[in-house]
Amino acid sequence: MITQHEIDALNSYPAGEAPVISFYLSFDRHEREEKTPFTELKNLLRLGQEEMAKWPEEYHVPLALYLARIEETAEEERGGRSRGLAIFAGENLWQVYRLPVPPGNRIVIDRMPYVKPLIHLYRGHPRYCTVLVDKERARLFLIQMGEIQDYSMVLDEVPKHHEQGGWAQARLQRRHEDAVMHHLKRAAELTFEFFQRERFDYLLLGGTEELTSAFYERLHTYLQERVVAVFPIATTASGAEVLAATLKTMEEVEARLDEELSTRLKEEVGQGRLAVAGLAPTIRALNAHKVQHLIVEEGYDVAGGRCADCGSLSIRSTGRCRYCHGTIERVDSLVDEAIELGFAQGAQVHLVAPNQTLWELGRIGALLRYA
Ligand SMILES: [Zn+2]
Repeated sequence: MITQHEIDALNSYPAGEAPVISFYLSFDRHEREEKTPFTELKNLLRLGQEEMAKWPEEYHVPLALYLARIEETAEEERGGRSRGLAIFAGENLWQVYRLPVPPGNRIVIDRMPYVKPLIHLYRGHPRYCTVLVDKERARLFLIQMGEIQDYSMVLDEVPKHHEQGGWAQARLQRRHEDAVMHHLKRAAELTFEFFQRERFDYLLLGGTEELTSAFYERLHTYLQERVVAVFPIATTASGAEVLAATLKTMEEVEARLDEELSTRLKEEVGQGRLAVAGLAPTIRALNAHKVQHLIVEEGYDVAGGRCADCGSLSIRSTGRCRYCHGTIERVDSLVDEAIELGFAQGAQVHLVAPNQTLWELGRIGALLRYA
């Protein structure tokens, strides 16, 4: 799982004279077939060679070595489970991310790592928290982009229930019930503390109906609003079982949310309400600071431009700015810049798996704050 910590480290990489290669590669179904030619990789490496030639000669040898190492790593990963790679190579820098979602295809040689696509993946995909509860234990997991991390250590345990006879048993039984409720309350509080730190988007609950609903009642209302699924599972389930159950539920939830968002965009656009679809209208809405939700198909990428004077984005890469008549300069990835602008304006950015509805809308769109 990509952590905020790693992203911070890449962002604070000291810019020197020496070049850094940032390499992103998506494995689509076709590319993962090892018998077919690895066309995208070849294209990227060729672009890398061209870029390399623009650097002073002293850097050609190290850059050629980085490219060779990148090629080797991409070939090795090809038949694996990941859907894409992000690699950063430079002086004292070799970082490989095997990604569960495709990051697009790109190679950049610059004095700094080009981290935007990685940050967008990280920030544009929902984070889920799954809490499993039984009478004595609670377990907590964080999930993002199909990867899971166990954070059970943030939760405590209640005292064990001991079998005894007579009146003592009735009293112990009562004490046990109290202890269970106390345990659920405590687990709910700790889940809220965890939320304040990690800011997950959605919450899933696992366990019996009785206990998950008792737990739900004790959750902070912020968290109650975030519960998207409840499913039965034993807290004694193996890690693999928890992962499988969580991912299955999550996939359904994510597909449903993506579909709902795309459908909502289609409806709002169709009825002429506060929404736009397609690249040019979305870019205009961003330039006007109107975007509340930016919806982008995963892997969508297109070049464009930016005004050197006012910073407005443009679907054209040359000419004059429509706002201030400044000079438009080319940007390699207009979509990356658009996402960046969306985040900077406080919009919610949603990277959505490709679907027919969004495709027909032009692969990008936005729900607006005002007209
Ligand atoms: Zn301008």
